[in-house]
Parts: sequence; structure tokens; C-alpha cells
Amino acid sequence: MIEIKKIPKIELHNHLDGSVPLLTLKELAQRNGQNYSLAQISKLSQATHSKNLNEYLQKFDFPLRFLQTKENLMLATQAIIAQAAKNGVIYLELRFAPTLHTHQGLNLDEVIAAISKGVLNAQQKYPIIVRLITIAMRDQSETQAVATFAAGIKNDLVVGGDLAGEEAGYPPEKFVAAFSWAKDHDFPLTIHAGEDGGVKNIITAINYGAKRIGHGVAGKDQQSVIELAQKYQVAFEICLKSNLDTQAIPNLAASPLRFYYDNQVAISINTDDQTVSATDENQEYQRALETFNLSLNDFYQIDQMAVNAAFCDSATKIKLKQILKEKFQEFSFNPKKLD
Ligand SMILES: [Zn+2]
Repeated sequence: MIEIKKIPKIELHNHLDGSVPLLTLKELAQRNGQNYSLAQISKLSQATHSKNLNEYLQKFDFPLRFLQTKENLMLATQAIIAQAAKNGVIYLELRFAPTLHTHQGLNLDEVIAAISKGVLNAQQKYPIIVRLITIAMRDQSETQAVATFAAGIKNDLVVGGDLAGEEAGYPPEKFVAAFSWAKDHDFPLTIHAGEDGGVKNIITAINYGAKRIGHGVAGKDQQSVIELAQKYQVAFEICLKSNLDTQAIPNLAASPLRFYYDNQVAISINTDDQTVSATDENQEYQRALETFNLSLNDFYQIDQMAVNAAFCDSATKIKLKQILKEKFQEFSFNPKKLD
């Protein structure tokens, strides 16, 4: 019996706006002079029975209303990190789209600075290392995508970029200039692809230089994706509950987790949106355990793969691997043999 709570976790795919804890949302709304019960908040911000990705994405409108000031952004960031640390996450890459937080006058730099401040505060309190990813939204222009990445790279905590939002109708081809800007600036990208779009989006994103793919559901059973992922050492960010909620998969067994893992392609286990999908890291690791019958050794391998795929610097990766080794040793299991 594996005690999931005790397993150290690496979370690479976590959206800030979709993961603000319910109690924090209540507090942020109150700070804006609006009172909601927790039941109302959960109804307005959870999307556990959506028909598709678009309906799921509509649940972000509610939290975004309260993520428009420096103070609220900082408080939300701190609450998310506290929650992750409590769930045993030792490394978190938290992602956000700066442009979605500018509706009350903040500029991109101010949004990024407020979230960074929240990270620095939380890192002093909890045993967790946090880095940031700036997201360009697919329904915005390519110029805005470049501006988003350019604002991100100026901040020391931002380690990479992402393309997110509605995938169908907005293929990676629309963002060639953003991909080439990222390549020229050595700014690694993780791209949402093959979630509600086809396998072609995964292949294009990898060919354009994406180092990681978010979801990659459409790559299941596709040998061409395995070959490309192995060639360019691309990792896949698996988000089980979110894929169920957006109807990207009909059941958990349909997730590509085992397909990638068994084909020696790196994966990580992630929450995507903890509030919208009513999940957390413990539940995601538990789902992976139950659905794919993973062993302790599998979790150790997956955590190590996730560290390798992280966008932080190599000194941080060495530190994380040391922590993983120590934590897994506590299970009277000897990870040394597995190096
Ligand atoms: Zn996502």
C-alpha cells in the first residue's frame, strides 16, 4: 500500500487562475466588496461536468474577476503555494496569463511582479521551490504572445512560456513568430496541444521547438509522436481529472499516461486547475496509482523525469533530485539502485 500523501511531488502544470482555493476566493471577493457563500463559489468556479473544453474554460471568468489587483494576485499566489506544499509538492511551476489580469489597469510587468512577490513570501514559509511560466492566450494576437514572453523573461522567477486557451481553431501555426522569438531568447516553451485538438498540433508544437506538451491526449498510440518526443527529449504533462472534466478522455484508462511512460517518453503528473477541476496533487497521484497500477519505483522515476523536464536551472535540479532521493528512502526503498 503506497501512502500517496508521503510521496514528494513535482507539479509542472498548474494554472493560477484555475487553482485559487475556495476560501481564498471568498476572501478576495470580500476584499472587492462582494459576499458569496462557499456553496455559491464552488458552483461558479468548478467545472466537473463540462461538455467540452470551452465550457470548462468559462469557469475561469469568476476567479479572474478578483485577480485584478496586486494585493489579490499576491494573496492568491501565496494560498496556492501553501496548498501545494501541504500536499507534498517540493517543486511547482505555476503558470498564468499576464494579459488576463490587466482589466483594472495593471500592466504586464506589474502583474508578474505581484505574483513574484507572492512566490517569494511563500517560499520563505514553506519547504517548496516555485518558478513561474507566462502564458500567451491563443485567441490573442501573435504580437501579444511575443509581448507576454518578453515581459516574462525579464523576471528571474519566470522560467518559460506557454500557449493556452481554446485549442480548436487556434493551431500552433498561428504563433510561428512567438516560437521563433522563444528560440532566439533561449526561453523554453510548454505548449497545450492534443487536448481538444488533433495529434497534428502536438507534432507541430514539437517541430517548432516546444520542450514540453500539456496534455498530449491525441498522441496516444501514435508512434510518430513517440519518435519525435524521443528525438527532441520532449516531456508530456499529464492532467487526469482535467481531461475527464473537459471530455478529452472518456475515462481515466484512456489517458496517454501509460503509453508515454512505457515508451520511455518523460511524463509528469499534474493538477492543471485545482479549483475548476476540484482536485489536488494527492488526488492526481492517487488516480495515477489506481488507474495504472504504478509502483513506488514508477513514482520515483516519474518524479525524476519531471525534474529533468522542469525549466529551472541545473543547480536547482540537483537539489531537487537529492530531496527526492532522501524522501523516497523514507519508504524503506532504496532509490540508489535505480539511478
Ligand atoms: Zn492547462
